[in-house]
Amino acid sequence: MSRRPKRRAQQPAAQRTPAPPVTAASPCPCGRGNPYGECCGRLHSGAEKAAAPEELMRSRYAAFVVRDEPYLLRTWHPDTRPPGVDFSPGLRWTGLEIEATSEGTAFHGTGTVTFRARYIDAGVLGELHERSRFERVDGAWVYVDGDFLD
Ligand SMILES: [Zn+2]
Repeated sequence: MSRRPKRRAQQPAAQRTPAPPVTAASPCPCGRGNPYGECCGRLHSGAEKAAAPEELMRSRYAAFVVRDEPYLLRTWHPDTRPPGVDFSPGLRWTGLEIEATSEGTAFHGTGTVTFRARYIDAGVLGELHERSRFERVDGAWVYVDGDFLD
């Protein structure tokens, strides 16, 4: 998940939705059902690193939800990392579903995660269906890039 979906041309500025506040006790936005502080919050704070591409994928999705730009940038491959993250103010992420993973074990240096991420953009429901590529750099999993599937 590298960027926000394409903005619709006729998005009215008046319908912008602020991101919902997420606290350590909130259910983690990644959908695993644990409190944020014990789930992706551990990774966002830098206390721990993702053990596998799926965990990194979930934490990056949650970082889009809480708009944690530093986390997104430091978990981006140096070769593909953008100068900044463009959070669309009218867009709210509403759910993540992991469909498949490949490789990405302790014995691999690369891995992929296929997922669907749902959102509401200016009141319109949308879905991002992507296969993301991850690589291990200096021992830590980072996001490389992804292909949109439909
Ligand atoms: Zn989480």
